[in-house]
Amino acid sequence: MRPDILNPLFTETGALKGVGPGLAKPLDRLGLTRVRDLAYHFPAGWTYRKQVPLLDAADVGQNIIVRLVIVDHKSGGNARAPTRIHGCDAEGNYVSLVFFGRNAGWARKQLPIGEERTISGKLEQYGQELQIIHPDHIVAGGEAVPAIMEPVYPLSEGLTNNRAGQLVAQALEKLPDLPEWIEPGLFAQKGWKGWREALASVHRKEDASLQDRLAYDELFANQLAMRLVRAALDKRRGTPITGDGRLVGQLQMPFALTGAQRRVISEIEGDIAQPRPMLRLLQGDVGSGKTMVALHALLRAVEAGLQGALLAPTEILARQHFANLQKMLAGLPINIAVLTGRDKGRARESTLMGLADGSIHILVGTHAIFQEAVTYKALGLAVIDEQHRFGVSQRLMLSKKGRGVPHLLVMTATPIPRSLALAAYGDMDVSQIDEMPPGRTPVETLVMSQERLGELVDGVARHLSSGKQAFWVCPLVEESEHSDLAAAEQRAAELRLRFGDQVAVIHGRMKGPEKDAVMEAFAAAKTRLLVATTVIEVGVDVPNASLMVVEAADRFGLAQLHQLRGRVGRGSEQSRCILVRSPHIGETARARLALMRETNDGFRIAEEDLKLRGAGEMLGTRQSGDSPFRVATNEQVRELIGAASADARLLLDRDGGLDGARGAAARIALYLFERDAGVATLRSG
Ligand code: ADP
Ligand code: MG
Repeated sequence: MRPDILNPLFTETGALKGVGPGLAKPLDRLGLTRVRDLAYHFPAGWTYRKQVPLLDAADVGQNIIVRLVIVDHKSGGNARAPTRIHGCDAEGNYVSLVFFGRNAGWARKQLPIGEERTISGKLEQYGQELQIIHPDHIVAGGEAVPAIMEPVYPLSEGLTNNRAGQLVAQALEKLPDLPEWIEPGLFAQKGWKGWREALASVHRKEDASLQDRLAYDELFANQLAMRLVRAALDKRRGTPITGDGRLVGQLQMPFALTGAQRRVISEIEGDIAQPRPMLRLLQGDVGSGKTMVALHALLRAVEAGLQGALLAPTEILARQHFANLQKMLAGLPINIAVLTGRDKGRARESTLMGLADGSIHILVGTHAIFQEAVTYKALGLAVIDEQHRFGVSQRLMLSKKGRGVPHLLVMTATPIPRSLALAAYGDMDVSQIDEMPPGRTPVETLVMSQERLGELVDGVARHLSSGKQAFWVCPLVEESEHSDLAAAEQRAAELRLRFGDQVAVIHGRMKGPEKDAVMEAFAAAKTRLLVATTVIEVGVDVPNASLMVVEAADRFGLAQLHQLRGRVGRGSEQSRCILVRSPHIGETARARLALMRETNDGFRIAEEDLKLRGAGEMLGTRQSGDSPFRVATNEQVRELIGAASADARLLLDRDGGLDGARGAAARIALYLFERDAGVATLRSG
């Protein structure tokens, strides 16, 4: 149950003074449904005003506050022309107050002829006249004079800044005094203010550092929730997996494992042999051989009489993993199946039955494999491949699928900076494959202007005629899958004029079987130039394809480019990646492409990407600004999440957990930020 002390904050904004039905929509659009949301509706900027005794053309361009006597009203004559209301200062200088549209009638009432008013607004020059269009404040004698400094709030049609300010002020009056949840040492070291004071000052003063404490609160609630979920899952225990090696021993591998693969496999084996469910992040650059590591772990589970599941982010990848594993497992007494959203009817039923009765040992698929209807006889290990959005709530869901809580291995080639990994997964163990299989030559990256496309196509022709294959990735068009598709199809048509039916095209709009057919034909070298949208971003493995062209590369994220580039360089010969840039790009875009040319170091690229694009986008939600956090900016996530994580650990391990005094305060923070998963663990005990 939500602590009572938070009730005033969770009052609906509709219950505030002066909020009629007209405001409901704009408030809703801005996500301001509760008093809490208003208190956290931070200014987007500030208006500074100059209080002047007299009108002066030298102040044009400034926001001024001035006292005037209203001298006349001039209506515009027709509906579109503005109403001009003249006022004059103590020395008889005039200013024209200009009102358009429906505001005019209201303005006449506010500014009766002969009365004195204090008004504020931006002074402009209009011909010979001074004017102020739509003054932002009109104040009669006796009322408070407009502030010298005023916050400018994010607004939506129907909500004016004045009204937003009033509502925020009402919300701030209702703030309860909450006990402090931040660890005292840290609190003192940072010199932060208490919660209520910090929140109020954000609306009173332009000082970005005031927001740090508030961002920290959100990060702390997030980290606490993650730890609580982890603790709850630990309590429920997993099943220790100690295989006898009989299956792993039979595996026919065409190569020896790299040292890094062996090390990582033993780290994983050490984890899953424990009753505490594993929670491990496996990072390894594209092509470093993560699949083999996953396969070893899955086989261990099967040796121990349990089932394993491998989750891929897309249909294509799921099917490709399935085909690969099937090949590698040929001859072993193992039953492996695939399940995606596309599988329906009988086939699906029979897979579901096999999972429930345990006759299927390993399941590969998309998120469908963890859906409600899928029950496992004894799921012991889940491997998540390239899926950034597998957060806390998915983990709780997964925990219901196993015999005990399944061990969890998350694999990623986009090296997630630690700050981001903490935000997305909480404090998990990390293994790293920091060594490439032998015999790989790093991909050579070139940047080329779109203007040289003709030469580029000649280069592709030479490449194809030497018997090799290539990818051609088409521009990513923001916000429209449809135009992505059009771009890819158009490019494919153009390339077909030159290369005929060597050209194939693949994109996200194609039906599953159609995509599979295209991929199969390309893998079998029946087609040689694969024109694609970013659906090939991860995983697709065709070693003979040693050239990749990426059009409009400047529109891609760096981590995404790095992923794409990883599709080539899988065979033994020198591969090339050509980043085609738009003819006119800015400094930053240039620098980013240069970085891609200089380095193959996924970590450096990821850090750079985080700086430029932000957490939401890197976590896979794509829209920038769609961060998992409402208060904390990307920068604050980077700077503060480590401390928040450590603080949450201190609270639970040293300071008596949630039952101590600080714990009671921390519970409040969890509810304040509605960290549902964490809150759910509080409820369940
Ligand atoms: P990723 O880490 O990107 O998922 P994969 O698991 O797809 O990489 O492996 C990339 C390629 O490297 C595959 O063709 C795989 O068979 C091969 N591979 C994996 N491990 C080794 C190894 N130790 N030696 C040689 N080739 C390997
Ligand atoms: Mg992979």
